[in-house]
Amino acid sequence: MNYFTGQIEPLITATAGAILFWALGRRLTAHVNFELGRGNYVGAFPFLGALLGAGLAGGVFAQQSFLALTAAACLLSLIGFLRDRQRLSYLSLLPWCALTIIACLFAATDTGGLFVISATAWALLIIFSLKIAALVYEMPFILLTTSTLTQFILFSQHQFTPTAVLANLSLLIASVLMLFYSTGGRRLLTGSSGIFAAGFLLAAISLLEGSGRLLIFGIFVPSMVILFPFALISAMIVASYFGNRLHQGISHERHYSWSLRRERTVLFAGLFFLCLNFLALLVIIDAPGPAYVVLFLLFIFSLFVFVSTFARKESVPIAPVPAKIDILGITIDAVLPADVIARIEQYLRLSSVSPDTPPANASGNNGATLFHIVTADSLALVRAGEDERFRNSMRRAALVLPDGAGVVWAADFLGTPLPGRVPGVALVSQICETAGKAGWKVFFLGGKPGIAKQAAGLLQKEHGITICGIEHGYFTPDSAEEESVLEKIAAAHPDIIFVALGVPRQEFFIARLRNCLKRGVAIGVGGSFDVISQTLPRAPYWMQRFGIEWLFRLWLEPRRFMRMLGIPIFVLQILRHKWNAES
Ligand code: UDP
Repeated sequence: MNYFTGQIEPLITATAGAILFWALGRRLTAHVNFELGRGNYVGAFPFLGALLGAGLAGGVFAQQSFLALTAAACLLSLIGFLRDRQRLSYLSLLPWCALTIIACLFAATDTGGLFVISATAWALLIIFSLKIAALVYEMPFILLTTSTLTQFILFSQHQFTPTAVLANLSLLIASVLMLFYSTGGRRLLTGSSGIFAAGFLLAAISLLEGSGRLLIFGIFVPSMVILFPFALISAMIVASYFGNRLHQGISHERHYSWSLRRERTVLFAGLFFLCLNFLALLVIIDAPGPAYVVLFLLFIFSLFVFVSTFARKESVPIAPVPAKIDILGITIDAVLPADVIARIEQYLRLSSVSPDTPPANASGNNGATLFHIVTADSLALVRAGEDERFRNSMRRAALVLPDGAGVVWAADFLGTPLPGRVPGVALVSQICETAGKAGWKVFFLGGKPGIAKQAAGLLQKEHGITICGIEHGYFTPDSAEEESVLEKIAAAHPDIIFVALGVPRQEFFIARLRNCLKRGVAIGVGGSFDVISQTLPRAPYWMQRFGIEWLFRLWLEPRRFMRMLGIPIFVLQILRHKWNAES
């Protein structure tokens, strides 16, 4: 009881500070256009206000550790604010963030440099995770509220440093306040400044305390941010299979509508996260058996919220499939593999037109060109959002194919369902089947030395294709070697060029190829040769069916982990896009 009564004064002042600074933040930034999305910008103000309030009332304001903590939070929010205003890249901010965190943790602790460096990495990991979570407006607040609430309860059972206790209290107050404001559809933006300050505070609380007991609550944040979208999309794909019959052609009615509302999704995430945190808490405080039963009931309730959130049975007629759909600003062609083959036949007819033929279309193009086909998965769409050069190469392509369960899910979720997937690996075989019959000349480029040859050999054996060239893909971009590969391809006069250099290199390569080759069809096929040559196995059918092929690839190639972090970002971007469009 003593612990809680001891917190009353800091609690009141932290709340007052948060509200005061909140109002100040809104006032100061009322005329600033942050282009962060639709919502009110408050930045780091409420977090800093609550921190100052709690520190003053708790009598720790003069302490070295608290001063260092506050200084770092202020500096980081300033760095984040600069990012929000001037749109500097995160990479350019990284050294400044790291330096600030290192300096302030040095000031606050008397432990060694190695600790400080690992602590910096820890803080940056949490900040980065919260930044991703912020794609779904109030998600960071719910993660912060849940973590700090659990820590607040834990603090009542064990002895912790006053700085950590008061910083935690301030973070709890500010997050609850933001969450409270966000109910009823209102949106609040903390921007990078709020995320940098809050993420740092959460990391610092566990570190300043020093015992490592709180690290677990910190690590839950990145885990949740990474795993929740995966769990969400997998559950939705499984449910859609039973309801909307994705990948089996579009049915005329949808049995499960994607009425995934923002508040419900966040509520579910919060409940699920609470269960996770409380489980850790119960283990740490050595709780009796019945406590686990209560936790289990809470978990069942969370599942109920989840199921009722999206699996609402409704019969909604769906509109006819348009020829092209838009996902995150990229146009995807709503085609099936058979349509792709028909389009390739058409392109080859067009590209065999003599360059002297007068222009046949409005753009003044007589058709003599190299046609570019992109196989786009969810990671490619995320990259297109960040990389202008790649985005432009996608926009200039003749066809952009939905290669991946994520893209098909997104299309369905956004209310413009695609007829199905066009997986790159299967497409290579299907094209070769037609190439064998039609006598098309095929060029294979990419993969490690020997791989393209092996894949081409197997395809030739199966479909009797004419191979007009094979090159491995390990040469430096924009080098003389690349130049000679380009020349070799142009000299071979291929009808079809499979380019397996990985995204985005293959698209850049095809863009260069278009300058020296004015006929044929070039297709970026990623890691297809590795699968066709049987160097890498393809995921079992059930994994492809339930959209978890990525899990199989991760298992085979763990080095892909960093790249695959793009998948949760893609899911969160789609959620944000849908909710923005609905409001
Ligand atoms: N690759 C290549 N040259 C390079 C890098 C990669 O030929 O410089 C090949 C690699 O061997 C693999 C293919 O490109 O067969 C696709 O790589 P990855 O699976 O990483 O790309 P993704 O399929 O995800 O686009």
